[in-house]
Amino acid sequence: MMAAILDAFLSQELDALRQKHLFRNLRILEGRQLPEARFDGHSVINLSSNNYLGLSTHQRLIDAAKQAAEAFGVGSGAVRTIAGTMQIHMELEEAIARFKHVEASVVFQSGFAANAGTVSSILGKGDLIISDELNHASIIDGCRLSRAEIRVFPHKDVNRLEEILKETAEFAGKKLLITDGVFSMDGDIAPLPELVELGERYGAILMVDDAHASGVLGSSGRGTVDHFNLHGRVDIQVGTLSKAIGSLGGYVCGNRKLIDFLYHRARPFLFSTSHPPAVAASCLAAFQVLQEEPVWIERLWENTRFFKAELEKLGFNTGQSETPITPIVVGQGDLAMRFSDELFAEGVFAQGIGFPTVPEARSRVRTIVTATHTHEHLKRALAVLGRVGRRLGII
Ligand SMILES: *Cc1c(COP(=O)(O)O)cnc(C)c1O
Repeated sequence: MMAAILDAFLSQELDALRQKHLFRNLRILEGRQLPEARFDGHSVINLSSNNYLGLSTHQRLIDAAKQAAEAFGVGSGAVRTIAGTMQIHMELEEAIARFKHVEASVVFQSGFAANAGTVSSILGKGDLIISDELNHASIIDGCRLSRAEIRVFPHKDVNRLEEILKETAEFAGKKLLITDGVFSMDGDIAPLPELVELGERYGAILMVDDAHASGVLGSSGRGTVDHFNLHGRVDIQVGTLSKAIGSLGGYVCGNRKLIDFLYHRARPFLFSTSHPPAVAASCLAAFQVLQEEPVWIERLWENTRFFKAELEKLGFNTGQSETPITPIVVGQGDLAMRFSDELFAEGVFAQGIGFPTVPEARSRVRTIVTATHTHEHLKRALAVLGRVGRRLGII
């Protein structure tokens, strides 16, 4: 039986969510994560996955996973630092380091764990973190866990950032400047060249979280550092294996010393079991596909350009997006949720997003195109978006 105090707390919180129309049932995917997929019994054009290149169902990845499961079993049986480091884990870290043109990399169980574990092990009490206001929740949690002082600068505002760096020039501890490479709700790109310069000028460590840039931006999807040609000038690069790479996990790239330190101090690495071999094998296959099958990234960007241009022709406000993530900003949260619900009923799945994830007045539905959408998929989605958008007075 549940403790009365817990029961009362949960009821109160859930009732509040229901009253604000924020209570949501999880949508259930039936079958594969495809550009046209079945959720909750409806066949819809899927504009809500991060499976940018369609790799989660790529046959080479599936075959690699199957073979690894047969050869090595389904679980690793231990944390990396005790008995859970398999040959295939090391091969994956080496492949990532080569791909990113860095000395070394370490793989975590997720991108979330990579961010939270890295920030909280490198920074501590007496240190300072300077963070973009739209950074991902895993960065924010890592900052809090570190117990360092936190200063937040307005989104991409490098002038305000420089003021903060000037104000804290005499700060005695380490300083970390941290940003998403591509911002997950708006699809815009961090001003990395300016951040690199400011970091170098004011002696701050620079860390970039490329979750939405991995497999998307830069040559063969090497990320924002490659996109801006800043190799060697970003101290810590984070990436995810859960989005464009199609599987699961996160990684940190840098020099050998950084990775050796994280092997000894990053708590998710030390205290949580390593990936099943099938996960590591599928990720290894994904990095081969990235380099041998450029067609996926080409199609992703073709679809991105086409879809964005058509949304703008329809008259939607698509914000500042520069990547396959395109928000359709509608204003109030309840309108965004209604827009999303009516789109779904007419066969298009685009997630509604409101406060607290974005400011109330910038509530939106977020669309993400992938390499595997056909033009026909996108045209059908655009027809529905136009029809429902006009009906709700959004355009
Ligand atoms: C998705 C995301 C993460 C988390 O990655 P997972 O591998 O899904 O845990 C971290 N940072 C950003 C910016 C993200 O969008």
